[in-house]
Amino acid sequence: MNVLVINCGSSSLKYQLIESASEAVLAKGLCERIGIDGRLVYQKAGLDKEITEAAMPTHKEAIQMVLDALHNPESGAVADLSEIGAVGHRVVHGGEKFSGSVVLTDEVLKEIEACNDLAPLHNPANLIGIRACRELMPGVPMVGVFDTAFHQTMPKKAYLYGLPYEYYEKYKVRRYGFHGTSHSFVSKRLIQFLNLDASASKVIVAHLGNGASISAVLNGECVDTSMGLTPLEGLVMGTRSGDIDPAIMEFIAKKENLDITGVMNVLNKKSGVEGLSGVSSDFRDLEKAYNEGNERAVYACEVFAYRVAKYIGSYVAAMNGVDAIAFTAGIGENTSFIREKILAYLGYLGITMDEEANQVRGEEKVISTPDSRVTVCVIPTNEELAICRETVALV
Ligand code: AMP
Repeated sequence: MNVLVINCGSSSLKYQLIESASEAVLAKGLCERIGIDGRLVYQKAGLDKEITEAAMPTHKEAIQMVLDALHNPESGAVADLSEIGAVGHRVVHGGEKFSGSVVLTDEVLKEIEACNDLAPLHNPANLIGIRACRELMPGVPMVGVFDTAFHQTMPKKAYLYGLPYEYYEKYKVRRYGFHGTSHSFVSKRLIQFLNLDASASKVIVAHLGNGASISAVLNGECVDTSMGLTPLEGLVMGTRSGDIDPAIMEFIAKKENLDITGVMNVLNKKSGVEGLSGVSSDFRDLEKAYNEGNERAVYACEVFAYRVAKYIGSYVAAMNGVDAIAFTAGIGENTSFIREKILAYLGYLGITMDEEANQVRGEEKVISTPDSRVTVCVIPTNEELAICRETVALV
């Protein structure tokens, strides 16, 4: 079955058409600047990218352009749209309602809408994409795959904050965690790759991308993760602060004369390694600046790696041990000097890095030495493929 995977943001939309049996990507691309001017990037497997500038006032026109490109007689991936058997949608927040993927019905859409408060930047955009697809592809089954679902197995002690309990009861203020599709995919693959017993395994997944999070997976189930009510908590990220003393918010608001929206903007968009370094949020730029001896870039990388190492230590404590650790996402898969910095803290776990293996980029590999007590791997993530698999399983 051909599955169209859609990841819809407020002004952009990424898509892939995947043939589920072979798991081959038939075509992929994105729509950018929806509601502004509009740009479609389309690439059929084996061909060059096609870029079309065209008006996309809403997501509906954007999705229509994607469908037109997918069955364009010259470079289309399918001869007819009826060859698309299902659509899998990424949905950011499923609250406590969704602990797994779900077939999208009117009732389910209402329940997703009820989670909008928890992810006001993301869920409404996801819903717009789902509704536009349902209008343009009537009768095609659609599945929602939630970023939060994999983390729903966390015990209460891991997801409750030290806040008045009534905030949890009234507003559902708690840790939810994100990147769940990736943590699920990578933890399962790690267990398979190392031939571990899934029902007796302790693994840690470090999803280190522009957004970064880490999770503790005990016997195949998530027991803790670093992102919280929102994706701002936890690791130091590209432009997000991660954990800070919450009192800093009031302090900065007063000093900089900012309201709460202004402070949140600083924490989400002007902090992290970009805010620290003043260079970039991108680790390719940071690595260059680091090698040139740029002092702030050096601190940014040190702070980033130190925070990851501290979280790994805390998750070893949470699980009373660890069998294997996986690095994934842009930085985890590609940036060997950051992996090296993190692993340098983990000698107490009996980990020794294999320097040559650690040069790997974007492929599955063990990067610890054979005599290490804990095995460390690079496991590339593939959220689109995970969404495709979930979709096929449900339809
Ligand atoms: P992600 O959000 O998963 O796409 O990760 C983006 C981060 O990965 C950026 O900081 C990139 O600098 C970093 N990265 C390093 N090398 C690569 C690479 N070869 N391809 C993609 N991302 C990379």
